This record gives sequence, structure tokens and C-alpha cells, in this order.
Amino acid sequence: MQNYTAPVDDMMFQLAAFGYEAVAKLEPFEAYDFETARMFLEQTGTLASDVLLPSNRAGDTEGTQWDPETGAVTVAGGYEAGHKALAENGYYGLTADPEHGGSGAPITLGTLSKEMLMSGNKSLSMCPGLTNGLIEALEAFGSDAQKEMYLPKLASGEWTGTMCLTEAHSGTDLGLLSTKAEVHGDHYKLSGQKIWITWGEHELSDNIIHLVLARLPDAPAGIKGISTFIVPKFLPDGSRNAIACAGLEHKMGIHGSPTCVMALEGAEGWLVGEPHKGMRTMFIMMNAARLFTGLEGVSLGEIAYQAALGFAKERRQSRAMAMGKREEGKAADTILVHPDVRRMLLDVKSTTEALRGLSLFISANIDLSTHHPDEATRQEADDLVALMIPIMKAFGTERGFKNVSDSMQVCGGMGYTVDGEIEQYLRDLRIAMIYEGTNHIQALDLVGRKLGLSNGRLYQVFGKRVRGVIEAAKGNEATAGFGETLGKRLDALDAVTMSLGKRAGEDPEAMGASASTYLTAFGLVVCGFSLLTQANHAVTAKTDNQRAKLGVTRHFFDRVLPEIEGHFAILAADHTSITRFADEDF
Ligand SMILES: Cc1cc2nc3c(=O)[nH]c(=O)nc-3n(C[C@H](O)[C@H](O)[C@H](O)COP(=O)(O)OP(=O)(O)OC[C@H]3O[C@@H](n4cnc5c(N)ncnc54)[C@H](O)[C@@H]3O)c2cc1C
Repeated sequence: MQNYTAPVDDMMFQLAAFGYEAVAKLEPFEAYDFETARMFLEQTGTLASDVLLPSNRAGDTEGTQWDPETGAVTVAGGYEAGHKALAENGYYGLTADPEHGGSGAPITLGTLSKEMLMSGNKSLSMCPGLTNGLIEALEAFGSDAQKEMYLPKLASGEWTGTMCLTEAHSGTDLGLLSTKAEVHGDHYKLSGQKIWITWGEHELSDNIIHLVLARLPDAPAGIKGISTFIVPKFLPDGSRNAIACAGLEHKMGIHGSPTCVMALEGAEGWLVGEPHKGMRTMFIMMNAARLFTGLEGVSLGEIAYQAALGFAKERRQSRAMAMGKREEGKAADTILVHPDVRRMLLDVKSTTEALRGLSLFISANIDLSTHHPDEATRQEADDLVALMIPIMKAFGTERGFKNVSDSMQVCGGMGYTVDGEIEQYLRDLRIAMIYEGTNHIQALDLVGRKLGLSNGRLYQVFGKRVRGVIEAAKGNEATAGFGETLGKRLDALDAVTMSLGKRAGEDPEAMGASASTYLTAFGLVVCGFSLLTQANHAVTAKTDNQRAKLGVTRHFFDRVLPEIEGHFAILAADHTSITRFADEDF
């Protein structure tokens, strides 16, 4: 039986540590003070554990079914109740504009709710997750008429959303896509085939609104010739549109989530934003999805940790190494006494809490960047979000996957068998390193785009923030040492960043060979920043969890952060072992 206890106390602590006070003071969020936030988080935690989690295993074992006659897709028993509860409790439109039926909650609370809902049932939660992204894209680029027609129904969960980018020959390289859009009166007709479309077809909602990338007849080649269209399953007059599911993928995990081949055969569509500028619209949805995907590492890392900890407290094997820790009258001690089991649990706990902090740091800055009255504050927040999104997506999923794997290791054979809880989480999480732009594409975005933007301003803004936290740590004996260590790692990252920029200028392959390693090193510094922010808050506010927070921070600084030295050594090495290795010798 899968179990989940929502980490509401840590979330509340982290809200305070990452400046939620400033978010709650913003005019649109005045109703969402700390007290309301706690009530909301508790309610979401209960929904995740009592409504979503019970159907999580059924989603895995029953999977999804496609009817070749009608193209209809059915999902697991229990999902309907889950979807209904999500819709009725406002999760589809949680952060959407109240003008169009949303609840207008800050993204910060939206992010925490997503973490819990995904812990409960990742496959099902992807449906509101994608719908939230579509709402954001339409709020930014939809016409007034489109907003009026689509947003209220999406916000209520009566209709759900998808993003349709991928085609068989066009995955990472969207410039290759060939779905066509032709003028049809005041709108368009689209023809082509999309693959791997998450929640592309199902019967849970009355309508499905697809956001589809396609090319107009006069489109220039490549990425600059892509436009974005709304293609509804049912047309405004209630008739069926010519978009249908032509099959389902069978896959390693997320069996509960339908992954659809979608055939468009003259499907009617409406242009969103300007012609050929479709990537601007889609980027809004993709950015939301990248934060959401990074969060999958936190969600499944958390629930896997809970399962591993529960097991470690019960399972008795061997005697404790230290005589004083041996329990009298027992043939064996619980495995929680073994240093290696504790090492794994602490690796998982410290990085999960660090990444939860990163997700909050990004989300609070999204709220500030969209609603703060001061332009300079908005710009700085926007810079931080842009720089951190690829790190959250790639490092969050890479570390999250390791965390679920380590949690499985804690449980031994029981972790690997389907009687345990963790093997499903491991399978469900693996895709997160691939979709929403593979992790390497995130690394290229970080190194090739974000570092160079505005003459390196984004990196400088982040560096200033980290040094501020180090400065704050100086005043206290409990945190000063962490600050010193982080300062040294940041100095080293500064040097590596400079040298990578120089080498990439001389030889572009140097960047390709180093970007993923660089992102991992950067991710470790970011986690150090996150945990030091939390440790500072625990000490200054004298919070109840002070001992535990200082304990996980110490573990991270002593035994996880030093991994960075290995990454720095790789970054210092010549990349030609990769680029000059003869193709025929592979
Ligand atoms: C379960 C599932 C759900 C999905 N949901 C959706 C969805 O809802 N909507 C949607 O549109 N798509 C969806 N996708 C597609 C997903 O986004 C793509 O799989 C992803 O973008 C990668 O594309 P690809 O699989 O074609 O890999 P490829 O592009 O073929 O890449 C293969 C490998 O080559 C590497 N590579 C490619 N280009 C470069 C480069 N320039 N430099 C270095 N390395 C490179 C990649 O990093 C990767 O390791 C889903 C996929 C799956 C499996």
C-alpha cells in the first residue's frame, strides 16, 4: 500500500525562508497570507493522499485503452473521481486570472500544490499541469475573444489542455516540423501527425483544447516559420473536429497518462498571437512545463523517501556497528542504525529539501516578476527565473531520479519488487529527464543562451544573491562555516564559467561537450544556496526544526557538495576525447 504524508510543515518553513511575505504583500495576492497558505496546503495534502494516491497503482497496472473504431481513450478507474475532485476544488484554475474564472493564487502556492498532487499521482496530475500551462499561454498571447471562449472552461476543469509539438521526425529540433496550416475563412485547417501527446485524448473532460505548432504556407524554413494554433476536440458548434487519437504508446512508466498519436486531417484551428511567431507563445507553456517537470524530481523523491524511511525504521538486519546502538533482546537492529543506510536517506532528504527550496525561489520570483510595482525588482526577478529554470528542470530530475533510486536501495529487494512502492516511482520519473526538452537541451539553454544574455547580467544577479546569503550567514556560529564553503564553491564556479565562455568562443564543440557537466556543478551550488538560505532562516527565526535543518545542511555541505570537485575536474579536461574519437571506433 502506498502512503504519503504531505510535508506541509517544511513547506510553510520554506515559504518564510524564501520571502513569501513579499509575495503575499503584492496587491493581487493579499488574500493569500500565511494562515490561508497553511490551510490551502493542508487541504491539498489531504486531496493528494486521500483522493489521488489510491488510484496511483491502478493507473500503473490498468494503464490506458484505445478503441481503434472510435479513437476513444479510457483511463484507469479512480481517475474520474480524481479529476472531478481537482476540478471542483479549483486546481485547474488555481493560479489563473480571476477575470476569466481563475482563483488568482500566487504561482508560489501553485508550485507547492503541484508537488503534493504529483506525489499522490503523477500521471493524473499532468492533466491539470498541462492545462495550467495552456491557460498561462492564452493569458499572455490569446485574443480577447479566445480568452473569453477558452479560459473559464479550462479554469473550471470542464475542458483540459495539451501541448502538441513533437512529430516523428521532429523532436528536439522543432524547426523540422511539417504539420501544415491552410487558410479557411477567418481561421485555418491543419493537417499532419503529432506523436507522444500527453493527455491528447480521454473522456474525463467535455472538451480537449490542443495548442498545436504548425507551418503556414508562406512560412520561412526552420524555427522562425512556426505558428501556434488552438485546435479544440469539439468545435464551437459542438461538432467533432478532425483531430483524433490514432494510437497509444506503450512505455516504461506513467502508464496512467495517455501518450497519444494525434492525427490532424484538416482540423480547424485558430491562430494564437502573430503568424510565424509561434515559439513565443509555446515558450510560455514550455517554461511552465519545465518548472513543473523539475518538480517531478522533488515530488517522487519525497514520496520515495517517506517509503524508504518507513522501511528503514521497521526492517531488522544485522547488528549495529556501535555496541551502544544495539537494541537489547533483539537478534538484529533496524537498518536505520547502519551508516550507509543513513547516508542514503540523508543524501535524499537534503537534496529534496534543497530542490523544494529552489522551486519556491523560482516561483516567488515569477510572482515578483509579474506583479511587483517596481520595474527594477521585476527585471531582477525575471533574470533569476530565466537562469534557474533549466537548472530546476535538468538538475531537479537528474537528482530526483538518483534520490528515488537511492530510496529503492534502502529497501533492498523489497524496493525492486512490485510489492514495494518505489519501483513505480522510478519508472514514472525516468521520462522527466527526456521530455520538455532533454536535460542536455536545458544545459545548452543555460550555457549557450542564458549565461550570455545581457552581457552576463543573469549570472551576476544570481551571484549577488548568493553572496548576500553568505554574508547573512557570517553573523552566526552555526552557519558561518557553510557560508565560507559556499563562497569558495561560488568563486570556483565563477572561474569555470569565465573559462567555459572563452573556450566555447574558440571552439563551439567545447560547449557541447561540457554543458551537461557544467549544469550539474551549477545545480550543486544552487542547492548549497537553497540550504544556506534555509539554515539562516532556521537560526534567525529560531524555528522548531532548527536542529534538523542544520543537520541536513551540514550533511549536504560535508558529503554532497564536494561532488562538485569531480565535475570541475571534468570541466578542466580537454574535450577532444569526445569530439575526436573516430566515429568508426564506437
Ligand atoms: C511519455 C512522453 C510524453 C511526451 N509528451 C509530450 C507532449 O505532451 N507534447 C509534445 O509535443 N511532446 C511530448 N513528448 C515528446 C518529448 O518532448 C520529446 O521526446 C523530447 O523533446 C525529445 O525529443 P526526441 O524524443 O525526439 O529525442 P531526439 O530529439 O531524437 O533526441 C535524441 C537524443 O539526441 C540528443 N540531441 C538532440 N539534439 C541535440 C543537440 N542539438 N545537441 C546535443 N544533443 C542533442 C538529445 O538530447 C537526446 O539525448 C513526450 C514524450 C514522451 C516519451
